[in-house]
Amino acid sequence: MRVRFAPSPTGLLHLGNARTAIVNWLAARQAGGIFLLRIDDTDIERSRPELALTIDADLAWLGLDVDERAVQSQRTAVYERHFAGLAAGDRLYPAYETPEELAAMRQRLKDKNLPPRYDRTSLRLAAADRQRLEAEGRKPHWRLRLSDRRIDFVDRVRGPQRIDLRHLSDPVLRRADGSFTYTFASVVDDLDLGVTEVIRGEDHLTNTAVQIDLMEALGGRPPDFGHLPLILDAGGQKVSKRLGAATLADLREQGVEPLAILQVLAALGTGRPACAEATLAELVAGFDLAAFGTAQPRLATADIARHSAAVLHHLDFVSVQARLEGMGLAGLDQPFWNAIRANLERLEDAGLWWSICQEPLQPVIEDSAYLATAANLLGQSSSVEAWLDALKEASGRKGKALFHPLRLALTARERGPDLGTLLALMGKDRAVMRLRGQVA
Ligand code: GLU
Repeated sequence: MRVRFAPSPTGLLHLGNARTAIVNWLAARQAGGIFLLRIDDTDIERSRPELALTIDADLAWLGLDVDERAVQSQRTAVYERHFAGLAAGDRLYPAYETPEELAAMRQRLKDKNLPPRYDRTSLRLAAADRQRLEAEGRKPHWRLRLSDRRIDFVDRVRGPQRIDLRHLSDPVLRRADGSFTYTFASVVDDLDLGVTEVIRGEDHLTNTAVQIDLMEALGGRPPDFGHLPLILDAGGQKVSKRLGAATLADLREQGVEPLAILQVLAALGTGRPACAEATLAELVAGFDLAAFGTAQPRLATADIARHSAAVLHHLDFVSVQARLEGMGLAGLDQPFWNAIRANLERLEDAGLWWSICQEPLQPVIEDSAYLATAANLLGQSSSVEAWLDALKEASGRKGKALFHPLRLALTARERGPDLGTLLALMGKDRAVMRLRGQVA
C-alpha cells in the first residue's frame, strides 16, 4: 500500500487536513505500507514556500512520520514527459478562450439554468482558425477531451459511485503560461509515485471521475479511492482554512496534546467514541476505513481541549519525560508525575505544581490559630493519616473546614492533588513553615 497526503501550501493545516493526514497515515502503518507527503504547490500565486515547512512541522508534532516526500514544483520534468505522451494522441487540445470569455460563457449558461460546462468551442476549431488566433498573439491553454462515458468505481467509504463525464467540463491540464494544473500534476504523481489508494475529502469526489479518465488516457491503472465527508464545526460550518478554523498551530499553542487530536480524528465519524487511553499502536491496530460513515461529523475545538486533558491524566511518565526535561523540569520524577497528572489540563501546568512543591511560596493564611495547631501536630505526627486524625480531634473540624485552610496555606490554591500526596512532594519541613505563614 502506498498512500499520500497532498496538502497545498496555501494556508496553515487545520483539523480537516489533519484528519486526512491521520487517516492516510493510519492506513499505511496498519498495512505496513508507505505514507507519502506530497506538497501540491502548482498554484504559484497562492502557494507560499514557508508554509510547506509548517506542514512538515505539524506532521512531526502529531507524530506522523513521513516515508517519502515529493514537491510538485520540483517535478516539472516528469509532467513534461507525460504531457508529451498525451499530446501524441488525440485527447489533448489547445483552447484559446480568455478568462473573461470563459466567465461570460458560464454566466450565459447559468442564466439559462444550465450546468456551467465548457462548450468545446476550441475543440471544433480548424487548423486555420488556430493559426489565426495564434497570429493574434493568443496563447493556448490545454484541455483533456473527456471520454463520452460514465465512470463507475467503488469508493472505499461511500460505496459504488457512478459519474457521467458527459456532464463535466474538459479539464484544463496546462495553463497558457506553461504551468501544469493540479488535475494533471496530481494524476501524473499518483501514477508515477505508485499510489495505491487515494483517501481524501469528499469535495474531490467529482474530480475523481475526471482523474480516472485522465489516468486511463495516460495508460495508467487508477488507484482505489475513498472520500471522507467534510468536518463541520460546532456551528455547522465546514472546517476550512478560509473560514479561519482552528489550525494545528493554534491547538499546539493552546497546549493541546497531539495524541488527543489523533484519537479524536481517528474516531470522528465512525460512531465509536475517542478513547483517551488509546496509544498510537492501538489506534493503528484498530483502524478501519470502512467504519467511517458518510454523514458530515461535527467537531467543536473545545471538545478537543477537554479530551486533551483526559489524555494527560492517563499518560505514562516515560511518554512525557523528555518534554518535561525540555520545560526545565528535569527533577520531576515518576512519583511526582503520577501524583499531579490527574490535575493537569495542559502539560505546561506540570511546571506550576513543580514550583508549588519545590520553590518558595507565599502561603495564604485563612485562620492562623487553626493553622498553628496543624503545624505543631504535623511536626509530631508519623504519617499524614495520623496528623489529620489528630487535627480533627484537636479542632473538632471536618470536611471543607478541616481541609480548605490547609490547602490554601500549603499551595496558595483552591484546588489540586490530594493533600497527603502534596505533603509528600513538598516535604514536611516546608509544609510546617507554610502552615506557620512563612514563605518556604
Ligand atoms: N492539494 C489538494 C487539496 O489540498 C489535494 C487533493 C488530493 O488529495 O488529490 O485539496
